[in-house]
Amino acid sequence: MPPPRRNGARPRARRRRATASGEGLGVAILSRNAKLYSTRRLVEAALALGHSPRVLDTLRCNMVLGRDRPRIFYAGEEVLATDLHVVIPRIGASITGYGLSVVNQFDMMGVPVLNNSIPIARSRDKLRALQLLSRFGIDIPRTVMCRYRDEVPQAVEMVGGLPCIIKLIQGTQGVGVMIAHTSAEVEGMLDTLWTLGQEILLQELVVESRGKDVRALVVGDRVVAAMRRTARAGEFRSNIHRGGVAEAVELDREFAEVAVKAARVMGLEVAGVDMLEARTGPKIMEVNSSPGFEGLEAATGVDIATAYVSHAIEYGHARHSGYAGGHLV
Ligand code: ADP
Ligand code: MG
Repeated sequence: MPPPRRNGARPRARRRRATASGEGLGVAILSRNAKLYSTRRLVEAALALGHSPRVLDTLRCNMVLGRDRPRIFYAGEEVLATDLHVVIPRIGASITGYGLSVVNQFDMMGVPVLNNSIPIARSRDKLRALQLLSRFGIDIPRTVMCRYRDEVPQAVEMVGGLPCIIKLIQGTQGVGVMIAHTSAEVEGMLDTLWTLGQEILLQELVVESRGKDVRALVVGDRVVAAMRRTARAGEFRSNIHRGGVAEAVELDREFAEVAVKAARVMGLEVAGVDMLEARTGPKIMEVNSSPGFEGLEAATGVDIATAYVSHAIEYGHARHSGYAGGHLV
């Protein structure tokens, strides 16, 4: 068998020439729509840094596989690994499956991707993410998953009784997060959702932070910006998409450190970490792998796009020079 082809010296030389000629480094942003706020801002930031950004519609990336090597074609033309320094995937929840395949295809072509497909997949499954966080000693709301109706009373006890939170394993923007006040409600919701083929988590309602949470945006090894979100009246979910309002916050060291640790445990270079402010300190609810940052830039005035792209460029350099990164992947 021939040795696996490494994307080594030749691509690097070509990349360097591209920089010397003033074109900047090739940065591909995978996004369904170039007009989306975060996508637009990443393009702007890459241009301002002197690079050559290109938005690729994820679903238009055709993956070609054969004995020679994995390739990608876009609008009839091959996308060459040698033209790309780094790929920044912005994969929406509705196209997770196809999106992850495209991200992995770039990875197999030897192009650094930020974030990579396995960490994105972990983050899309709330139970899987909580399993990892729990394994590494990060505080999370007490969570139980079970699959039989007669186990439910004990499960409710274990998450601290009623009211409690019921969550779909896959969900975003607050959709799929519910609150149940009575045993009849819990059983009714679980029966319905199980019948629809959904896997469900029961979770402790962290009462003292009801209607509020903190979103920290982690880039590399630091939090670049954070905000507190407060739900609108009568709503316990503080997502901006559910009408929550945001204000900038200066994070306590404990919160910043745990946010960075959570991203690291998940293997994410860029992450939106959602935390509850419990009496005992931060409790992490979820770690988002393609965090939008419109609300966060508006609330904090921080130029997140530039931090994001700069880190992607640095990460690309590290990967091209053979350093695999310090994260668990
Ligand atoms: P999504 O992926 O839909 O954003 P989250 O797990 O982040 O799901 O939950 C959405 C919102 O619901 C959170 O931002 C928070 O305001 C509220 N919430 C979720 N879990 C809890 C909990 N265990 N206790 C209190 N509030 C919660
Ligand atoms: Mg959330």
